[in-house]
Amino acid sequence: MRIWLDGTLRDADDAKVSVLDHGLTVGDGVFETLKAENGTPFALTRHLERLTRSARGLGLPDPDLDEVRRACAAVLEANPMPLGRLRITYTGGLSPLGSDRGETGPTLVVALGETTRRPDTTAVITVPWVRNERSPLAGLKTTSYAENVVALARAHRDGASEALFANTLGRLCEGTGSNVFVVLDGELHTPPVASGCLAGITRALAVEWTGARETDLPLDVLERAEEVFLTSTLRDVQAVRRVDGRTLAAAPGPVTAKAMRVFEERAASDIDP
Ligand code: PLP
Repeated sequence: MRIWLDGTLRDADDAKVSVLDHGLTVGDGVFETLKAENGTPFALTRHLERLTRSARGLGLPDPDLDEVRRACAAVLEANPMPLGRLRITYTGGLSPLGSDRGETGPTLVVALGETTRRPDTTAVITVPWVRNERSPLAGLKTTSYAENVVALARAHRDGASEALFANTLGRLCEGTGSNVFVVLDGELHTPPVASGCLAGITRALAVEWTGARETDLPLDVLERAEEVFLTSTLRDVQAVRRVDGRTLAAAPGPVTAKAMRVFEERAASDIDP
């Protein structure tokens, strides 16, 4: 595996980040995950825009997007595979203990892992922990993902593949690595970004292509929704067949099946590189 680290492609074994990197010591970093089919990254421009927004939110210098693009192209070319999970990590950099931020400038890592298509349907749970929509980190894709790791472990323990959070107001928010859509009286809704969820790139495309409404919804909407689905770069649109103890009548139901179809068609043609 060849990995990009600070300006050059290296073998994974030689790509070493300092133990004093601020991303490691305090989680001061941002990242993007995107899929790449046969070496072509999906929606790279949108991911780079979000990387910049997240970096600004943490007060990191803007990433050099020309370098990030070169890094992605180099890593994809060096590691051919049918379906890859491309990960861009950008951190505060080497930082002596006690100092606020790196002395050498940010660290940029681009790595790739082979992956497979997610199943079309899945089970989810809700967790009793909340997203804080008023946090300065709300909506930023930071490397401080430990809360998601804990929630996902709970989901796996309960035989599910994703855990859904409410926000501090008890409103439906998002999953550990996905956005959520629900069908109510035949209409498709998803929580607004103001709920504290990540502005998912798949979410935005799904809203644009299906006309889903952005609606504040109580968490218990999951007890009565006719259909539920998740979106994320590696899932695209994934139907939910079970939420906690409740099995949904149809997964995918008609609205979800249509969203899956529309997404598949338009993602192939209507998306900026
Ligand atoms: N919400 C969170 C917390 C995520 O980590 C992710 C993706 O990893 C998403 C939502 C979905 O975003 P995207 O569609 O850009 O992959």
